[in-house]
Order: sequence, then structure tokens, then C-alpha cells
Amino acid sequence: MTDPVFDPDLLSRCISCGFCLPACPTYAATGDEASSPRGRINLMRALQNGDLDPYDPTLQEQTSQCLGCRACEPVCPAGVEYGQLLEQWRDHQWKGRRQPLLARALMLAAGMRHLFRPLGALRRTARGAPAPLPPAEPVSLMLGCFERVLFPTVSRAARKLAPELSVPAGQGCCGALHAHNGDTAAGERLARRMGDDLPGTIVTTSGGCAAHLASVLGQDRVRELSAHLADRGATGELRVDGRRARVALQDSCHLRNGLGVWKQPRALIGQVADYVELPSAATCCGAAGTYSLLRPRESRRIVDAKIQEIEAAGVDYVAAVNPGCLRQLRTGLRRARSRVKAVHIAELLARAAQHHPPT
Ligand code: SF4
Ligand code: SF4
Repeated sequence: MTDPVFDPDLLSRCISCGFCLPACPTYAATGDEASSPRGRINLMRALQNGDLDPYDPTLQEQTSQCLGCRACEPVCPAGVEYGQLLEQWRDHQWKGRRQPLLARALMLAAGMRHLFRPLGALRRTARGAPAPLPPAEPVSLMLGCFERVLFPTVSRAARKLAPELSVPAGQGCCGALHAHNGDTAAGERLARRMGDDLPGTIVTTSGGCAAHLASVLGQDRVRELSAHLADRGATGELRVDGRRARVALQDSCHLRNGLGVWKQPRALIGQVADYVELPSAATCCGAAGTYSLLRPRESRRIVDAKIQEIEAAGVDYVAAVNPGCLRQLRTGLRRARSRVKAVHIAELLARAAQHHPPT
């Protein structure tokens, strides 16, 4: 007998109530039950029971169309852990030639630890020994694999805000990319290795990495940067044209829906600027890990609608708490020739502290 595709306990929890349907962006876009969380769970059950062949095109389409945003989780009265089910589904569905080539290439690149060293020499990230007065418990800053290449200034800003962070050398990838793209074993192995390499609490500037690491290492071990800074608060003020800046936030889906962290970044921004809540701040921006690369048309439709909202809100900045969202927003804003700037929250807070240093 072959192993079941899904953990039977996880799969049996859904009571088909449909409460999740209004929260699901792909159901909102298509109105198709198969594109809803409940519809997808029914497909998973059909696969598990052998009622559908793994090559069935609907299965392949729905594993890929789902954003993996987990907006269906907090609204579910039965506690369905949809994110885990999706990982198990993709692990089975995206095997061999069914795995998207681009996802495979990215995972391969992210798994090559030795690649990051030369890249690190070119893109100067935060580095160095622990702070002169290390805290009682060590706290390590994780350098995200793609973030250190695309946005190396983010880790430097994080270190300015939290000088107690040490930055161990030779870091690899945390495995979030692998877990979300059909290789759960590599996702777990890389997360455990990160846990072995980084002493104490691991602080990350990426909501997606935080949620993945916490799912493997436990929530006590992992903290996203805004959650780490929440108690000490933010200092200074961000000003634009002689007035207090207006700043919106794009939530990280996995940070909000997986770890329940959404108040902290809002509170920090509100301490240094006028915070503006976007109507769809909690809804996926379409970046969704590799989604913007694998399904560019749908991803662009999602972000373009968000950019219109950002423009209408009259903000100066939109802050992100995840590098994928930051890249997605910057691309969308550039395409719309918007004057609004997308920034990582670490850079926003570091800039505010610099303009008006604490007295
Ligand atoms: S996933 Fe949760 S909210 Fe959605 S239909 Fe199933 S039980 Fe209801
Ligand atoms: S993860 Fe997001 S897109 Fe996928 S079913 Fe849940 S709400 Fe819908």
C-alpha cells in the first residue's frame, strides 16, 4: 500500500461550511468553486481516495493557481491548516516533469550555499561580530537568500535598529522556497540547518521565511523583525515636504495568516509617520513566493489593482515586511509611473531614526 498524499487528520478537518470562500482571492477572481479553499480540499480528497488521477489537469491547474496566501486559515472555524495541506499537495503534484522548471531552477540556486559568499562580497549586507554588549540570550539575524542579493540594504537597516543582532557568516537558505514549491523534505532540512547554524533566537526581515522557520523550529525560536522591535518601539519621524509622511503597509500573507503578526508593523509605522490602512492591506499582492514568475498574468492583475488603491490613498510610502512583496510593489509602482515609493519596513524605520535621532 502506498503512503497517503495528505495527513488524514489534516484533510478530515474541513466541514465544508464555506466560511473561507469570501477570504480567498482566487475564488473572488474566478467565482469558480474549484478555485476556492473548499473546492481545493475536495480535489485533495478525490486525489487521496484515488477518485482522481494525479495527471488530472484540474489538479495541476489548482495546485498552481492557489496563491498559498493562507487567507483561508484565520477565518476557518474548523482549524483547517490549509498551508500545510498545500505543501503536501505540491510535494506530490509537482514531482518530476510536473514540477515547474522555473521553480526547480530557483530552488537549485537557493540550495547552493557556496553561491552566496561571492554574491555577499558584491552586495554588502549586514555583517560582523555580535554587539559589544551581547544580550543574555543570543539573537541572530538571518540573511534571506534572495533578499541579500536584491535588497542588501535591508539587513544593514535591521542591524541599525537592533544592534544586539549578530550576523553569523556562511548562512544558506531557510528552505521556505522549497517547502512552498513541492519539496517539503528539503524545506525542512534547510530550516533545521539554519537552526543549527544560527544561535539563539532567529530574527528575520522576511515574513515568509519567519513563518516557514517557525513551522519547523517552533515559534519560540523565530521572530520577524517588526515583532522583535515591537516592545522597544520606533524613534524619530519621517517627514516629506515639511510634513509628517503618510505611510501604508502591505501585510506579508504568511506573517499575518500563519504567525498572527500584523499589529506590530502598523504600530511601529504609526510611531514615526501617519499610518494609512489600505482596504486590501491584508490581501495578497500577487508576489506569493514564485507565483509572480510562474503565473505572471494573474499576479500582475492582482498587483495592478493594489497599485490603484495605493495611488488613491495619497501616501508617500508603502512599506513591506517581506522581500517578495517589496519586489512586487516596486515593479507595479514603476510600471504605473507612480511617485509612491515601496520600502522595506526596516529601511523606513532606520530612515526615520536617522532624520530625528533619539535624544
Ligand atoms: S476550509 Fe474551513 S472555512 Fe473552508 S469550508 Fe473547510 S471548514 Fe469551512
Ligand atoms: S491559500 Fe489563498 S488562494 Fe489558496 S485557497 Fe487559501 S485563500 Fe485561496
